[in-house]
Order: sequence, then C-alpha cells, then structure tokens
Amino acid sequence: LLDIEHLHVELPARRRGGEPRVVIHDVSLSVAPGESVGVVGESGSGKSMTTKAVSRLLPRGAATTGEIIFRGSSVLGLSGRELAQFRARRISTIYQDPRAHINPLRTIGDFLAEGVVASGAMTRTAALEAACALLRDVGVPDAERRLTQYPHQLSGGLLQRMMIVMALLPSPDLVLADEPTTALDVTVQSDVMAVLAEQIRDRSLGLLFITHDLDLAAAVTDSLAVMYAGVIVERGPSREVSTNPRHPYTAALLASRPSLSSVTRLTAIPGRPISAFEAGPGCVFAARCAYATDRCRAERPAPQLIEGRSVACHRAEELGSVLPKVAMA
Ligand code: SF4
Ligand code: MG
Repeated sequence: LLDIEHLHVELPARRRGGEPRVVIHDVSLSVAPGESVGVVGESGSGKSMTTKAVSRLLPRGAATTGEIIFRGSSVLGLSGRELAQFRARRISTIYQDPRAHINPLRTIGDFLAEGVVASGAMTRTAALEAACALLRDVGVPDAERRLTQYPHQLSGGLLQRMMIVMALLPSPDLVLADEPTTALDVTVQSDVMAVLAEQIRDRSLGLLFITHDLDLAAAVTDSLAVMYAGVIVERGPSREVSTNPRHPYTAALLASRPSLSSVTRLTAIPGRPISAFEAGPGCVFAARCAYATDRCRAERPAPQLIEGRSVACHRAEELGSVLPKVAMA
C-alpha cells in the first residue's frame, strides 16, 4: 500500500548563511493493506515529519529526496489537483486532541458529515447513515442519539472514537494517526487504539501510528519502526522488537519505560535526545550508547537484516546475547 524508500528531508537553515537542517535521514518503511505500523520515538526523532512527508504537509522550503510510493504512484510527484484528491479520498489523519478540532457549538452529526459532504463524496443523509454504522462498529452504543449531541456531552474516549469514525467515513486506504490518544487516560488509550487497529484489519486499510509510547504501539500494531535522531534504528514485527530488542536504543527505551506490573527500578537513558542535524558522521545514538566504540563514532551503520528485522547498529550481531529480553506486558 505504502512504500517509503530512502526518504531524506532537510529544512532550510534557521539563519541566513546557516546549514540546512536534516530532520529525516534515509528512512525506509512500508505499510501493507490491513497492517498497522507503529513509528516510535522521542520528540524530535522525526516521526511526525515522516507522516507529514506522506501527506505532503512538510514545512515550506523543505527539501525531500527518496520516494514515497502509494499504490504504485509517487506521492512526491502528485500535481496540485491530484494531491487534493489524494488527501481528501485516499488518506485520513487523526490528531491528538479532538477538542481542538471540533466546533463546540455544532452537533457531532454535523461535524462528522461536514468533510465528506463538502468533498462531494456523499449526501448529508448518506453520510449520517454511514456515520451511524461506523459508530456501532467502533463500539459506540446509541449511535443515533450521539449524532444529535454536542462535543461537551461526550467523554474524551468517546470523542476520540468520533475522530476515528470521521477518519474512516471517506473510505481512505491509509490512516495517519499522530499521538491520537495522548490526551486520554492510559486504559482509555489502549481501548481506543485497539478499536482503530481492528477497523484497519477488518477493512484492509493501512495505519501509520506515530507515538512516543512503545508499550502502546507494541500492543496494537503489527510492526514497529523505532526512530532516533531522524533515523530508523530498528524495524520489525512488533512482538519481537518489543520483547527481544536488537538495537541498544530500543533496549534502552524498553528499560526506561514505567511499568504497572513491575516494581523494578527504571533506568533512564543517559544524556539527552538529539535531532538528526546534531548527529556526527557516526551512529546517531553513539553519544548515549553504552556499547559505543570508536568505529561507532566514525561510521554510520547501515541497516542490516537480523532475525527478520532491520537493525542499524555495527554491533547488532554480537549484542544479541547481551541486550536484555523483555516479558510481554
Ligand atoms: Fe551503539 Fe555502536 Fe550500535 Fe550505535 S552502532 S547503537 S553506538 S553499538
Ligand atoms: Mg510529534
């Protein structure tokens, strides 16, 4: 469905005479129909930039190389009219805070129908009927009544289900969700994401789920891409990546996450995260990696295939027996 190939994005220099800032470096990623892919990283890792590149919403002046292939066509090559069609019909985006996107004075029904009616895809009646059916699919009882309610009458979790319904209404092929549940309680977050992942599977759509929450991503996605400083450091099946990490950064993320079920001490990752443009010539994680060698600081590791996943680390092979395994939550 979606193939991102060697994507590289540079933003213009902040000051005149400055260097352009690399924000994404050689990112390759694909999403198959029915597949949910999690892109996990700290803020500034380039995960949001990656989805912005897919919807062609990068900041003005961004220079992009590589390819983004959607159903066999280049997204980077779309003309203005094709791009508008692509955004309106083929992809949908779910944002973090529904209340920031919903007009509090209009009913949920008006809000849901608005986009598809405006794009000419459906009549208002058809849109409301489709919304009702979708609301039932995502586990909202009493769907007809909900459509007549106002946003303040709905809980955060219900509102986020409305956003899922709105995203699915135009029958897109691909859903982009950037930290869609961060504003919600932990248990509500996983319920909402599970509902979304189920719809993605049932409808054979693709999902790119952007999050800083490795546990949540591991629980609801099929594959994971772990990003650090604009680079995908590890990519593979979610279960394997989250239980048997092969990159030191993935292992450090797993060791530093709070867990409800264990009382083990948290190990913070030393140092601070960097952006891609601050990385030297070597491995982007070298400054914080407990296993870094001189080679790591001098030479950028190319992704290599290990046990069904892609790992960008010079020492991935030998660290396999060293990095701690993690029990499934
Ligand atoms: Fe650590 Fe070196 Fe691997 Fe980078 S390449 S993650 S610095 S061991
Ligand atoms: Mg972000």
